[in-house]
Amino acid sequence: MKTKNFFLLILSCFIILLFACKQTPKKGGVIISFDDNYIDEWFEFREVFNQYQIKATFFIAHSYLLDTDDIQKLKILEKEGHEIGCHGYCHLNCMDYVDSIDKYVENEIIPAVHLLKKHGFQLHSFAYPFGTSTDLIDSVLLTHFSYIRKATYNINDTTIDTYDDIFVSDNTTRVSNAMGMDYNYNISFENLETALKRAANNNEILILYAHQINNSKKDYSIEPAYLEKVFQLCNKYGLQSIRMKDIGSFTFK
Ligand SMILES: [Zn+2]
Repeated sequence: MKTKNFFLLILSCFIILLFACKQTPKKGGVIISFDDNYIDEWFEFREVFNQYQIKATFFIAHSYLLDTDDIQKLKILEKEGHEIGCHGYCHLNCMDYVDSIDKYVENEIIPAVHLLKKHGFQLHSFAYPFGTSTDLIDSVLLTHFSYIRKATYNINDTTIDTYDDIFVSDNTTRVSNAMGMDYNYNISFENLETALKRAANNNEILILYAHQINNSKKDYSIEPAYLEKVFQLCNKYGLQSIRMKDIGSFTFK
């Protein structure tokens, strides 16, 4: 009888444990984005994106320069679950148009949206070239896009978990900042890890951005080995990789 009770106790514990494991969802998310037109390098890295189940958001500038090969590669990336976003038509700085927002929209936004849509891309998100904007420009652009990304870098030379505006904590957020992780921003893995840990602990979405993926160690490039390590850390902390357009549907509980 005692043996039977013991067996039942072990079985109950096992079932409870199994249930608990099944009920523990992934907490926190990460948005990994890339700006400009480094399509060949992004495309070349897609095996690694797939290996770590990273879904990136690629913000395209100068869409009038896209050739057939570029468009085909972007279509494949989109088909594989990545998002194609808009990064302006001529990569203009919106801060030069604070007194002529209509002109900015007419020259920089409308033609970019038109051309990217003409190429068949579903547009939801925009990233500002040079990273900054005003509330008024944000509000105007939100009539063209659902999500807007700004950009910063480690201007305070501190641990990057202290930048509240690179974290999203609710589904209503439409405008957010992002932390640059290119080589010239010199963010150590330990520092990057502080932000990934915060996202996991607080169930927030961390937003990161980079540009080229290569070993040149030039400004606005990220080394493939560094980027892969970032992906590994995202996986280590169980962060769900999402695209900009997924902010509204992300599960925060
Ligand atoms: Zn740019």
